[in-house]
Amino acid sequence: MNNVKNEEYVICPRCKQQVYKEAILCPFCKFGIMVWLAGKIDENGDSIKDKSR
Ligand SMILES: [Zn+2]
Repeated sequence: MNNVKNEEYVICPRCKQQVYKEAILCPFCKFGIMVWLAGKIDENGDSIKDKSR
């Protein structure tokens, strides 16, 4: 029997919906889940390129 545990979900920081970690974009608000998880943007969608500024 397949025990389906926690799928790989994250909570979208923008719309607070559960979305797949593997989703590139949040299907609800089009937030860039993938780049956010990669640390390239913050939860506001601002790009994190240059830390020191
Ligand atoms: Zn969202």
